[in-house]
Amino acid sequence: MNLATVETRQPARPNCTVKDFKSDLKPIWCPGCGDFGVVQAIYRALANIGRPPHEIAFISGIGCSSRIPGYTTAYGFNSVHGRALPIAQGIKLASPELLVLAAGGDGDGFSIGGGHVPHTVRRNPDITYIVMDNQIYGLTKGQLSPTSPRGTKTVTSGLGSLENPVNPLLYVLAYGAPFVAQGTPADMPGLASIIEEAIRYPGFAFVNVQSPCVTYGDEEQQIKAQKAKMKTLASLGHDPSNLLAAFNLAQGYGTELHTGVFYRNPAPPPTLGALVLERQQAMAKDALPRERILDMFVQH
Ligand code: SF4
Repeated sequence: MNLATVETRQPARPNCTVKDFKSDLKPIWCPGCGDFGVVQAIYRALANIGRPPHEIAFISGIGCSSRIPGYTTAYGFNSVHGRALPIAQGIKLASPELLVLAAGGDGDGFSIGGGHVPHTVRRNPDITYIVMDNQIYGLTKGQLSPTSPRGTKTVTSGLGSLENPVNPLLYVLAYGAPFVAQGTPADMPGLASIIEEAIRYPGFAFVNVQSPCVTYGDEEQQIKAQKAKMKTLASLGHDPSNLLAAFNLAQGYGTELHTGVFYRNPAPPPTLGALVLERQQAMAKDALPRERILDMFVQH
C-alpha cells in the first residue's frame, strides 16, 4: 500500500448524502448554540467528500463541542480533555486509509490540550482539526477560556479578565501549519466549503470556527453580531499562498471576523504518515534477506 497516495486521495462518491452522516442521537446543546450550525456544515462537507462513514474516524476531547462525533455516523471517540490530537494522530498512523477528523473547543485545544497543538503541527499528520471557539468554558457553566477577550466578566472573573487571549490563528501559523482557515455558523454553506477544503488538503489542516455560546457568551459573539461584521478573505483579495499576508490578517483575531482560508501552503510538505512509510521502506530494503540470516546461524 502506498501510504502517501492513500493519505491524500479523497475520491468523490456522489451517492453519499448529508443524511448518511447524521446519527440517531439528538444533540443536547442549548437551543441556538452555534455548534448546531457546525455539525450541519460537517455533514455537508463529508457528503461532498463522498467517503462513507465507516472510512472516517472523528475524535474529540471534552466539552460541549466535543460531543460532536456522537452526532455523526463515523467512528467516534469522545476522549480525555485536551487529548483529541494525540489520539487522532495515533489512529491515522495505525490506519492511514481512514479519513481522520479531530474536534473540540477553545479550552480543550488551547489550554488543557494546548501543548499538543505545536507538536501536532510540526509532525504534519494528514488530519483536519476543527476548533469550535466560543471564547468561554460552556459545559462547566461559563468560566474564562484561553480565547476569552480581555475584560470578559464571568463567574470566575467578576472584575473582568486581566489576560490577553490566545490567538488560535497566529498560534498554528507560527508553528508552520500548512492549512489555516476560519469560519462561522453564521455562514453555514461557507463554513461547509472551508471544512471540505481543509479535509481535502494533504496534511494538517486547522479550522477555527467562531461558534457562539448563546448561554454564557458575549453579545458581540452571537450570530447577529457576527453577520454584521464578517468579511470573507476572498472579498479582501487575500492570496492564501502568501504566508506574510496570512500573518497580518490573523492579527485581526478578536476584533475582525475574517472567514476563509488564511494560508494554504502551495507546496504541501510531506506528511508524518508518508515519512514513516518512507523510513519503513528504507529499513526493509537494507534488511538482510531471510535466507542470508539463516545461513549465518547455520555457519556459526
Ligand atoms: Fe452551546 Fe454554550 Fe450551551 Fe454549551 S453552554 S451547549 S456552548 S450554548
